[in-house]
Amino acid sequence: MVKISKNLRFEFQRFSMVSGLVVFHVGALFVFLTGVSWTAVTIGLVLFVVRTLGGLVGYHRFFSHQSFEAKRWVQFALAFCGMLGANGPVRRWVAHHYLHHQYSDVEGDVHSPAHGHFHSYMGWYLDRSFYEVPVPEFVEKRITPEIKWLDGFFELILLAQIPALYFLGSFLEVRFPELQTDGAMLVVVGFFLSLVLSMQGIFMVNLICHIPRFGTRDFETKDRSRNNWFVAILTLGEGWHNGHHRFPNSARHGLLPGQWDPNFWFIKLLERLGLAWNVKDAREVAVRSTRKG
Ligand SMILES: [Zn+2]
Ligand SMILES: [Zn+2]
Repeated sequence: MVKISKNLRFEFQRFSMVSGLVVFHVGALFVFLTGVSWTAVTIGLVLFVVRTLGGLVGYHRFFSHQSFEAKRWVQFALAFCGMLGANGPVRRWVAHHYLHHQYSDVEGDVHSPAHGHFHSYMGWYLDRSFYEVPVPEFVEKRITPEIKWLDGFFELILLAQIPALYFLGSFLEVRFPELQTDGAMLVVVGFFLSLVLSMQGIFMVNLICHIPRFGTRDFETKDRSRNNWFVAILTLGEGWHNGHHRFPNSARHGLLPGQWDPNFWFIKLLERLGLAWNVKDAREVAVRSTRKG
């Protein structure tokens, strides 16, 4: 009985994930019906940045790597923003990422392109292990009770954006018609399009930044990680993935001159505001340890 309900739970979770991915991507195509306006594009871009910061500064650099410390309400806000970007429960994300670093590009890595490009891109969402990944004890200890509580609402937080944006767009249409937007346009541009863009960025880190022919290897590592400028632009700095694998605890990923890293700038801003501290920065040692240097 327990096994049947576990199987049903897995099938339901997988069905929800796959249908979500399809609906989000098809929804983005509706932009050809709704059209765009500067208002909608601005709101979509702001939400794109919010989702990216939540996923990559929050889930990745903070919760997974503890590359800085932050006030508890900032941790909560970062987790919330990560959920706006469809990153799912914090503990599940961190557990997957722990395996990715522990077994990079070998057996045990949950999303390495060494095990198939489609698998790395989206295919790993079909695996049972995606939904039932064990959360290490030290991760459980590290995550605060309020984040564990928030983890239970990740789907609600994600989907609540649809009615919220619809009402905002409808309100702007009536009260500020000169802004040239409406409910449907804001849902399509602010939710579907913006969300798909931020999700694709993260998919590309997993895929492109671990494929040998795409990008440079500035540092010696045991894995296939690469630095890729295109992915770095799309993800606000996460594409400097070879540097990240060499110095995983550094809050700065763009370790070499010219490697733009807005995610790190945001962490420095938090530090300036007194909201973050102990920001780890491996730039000095990194510059001295490049493969060419
Ligand atoms: Zn990696
Ligand atoms: Zn990492």
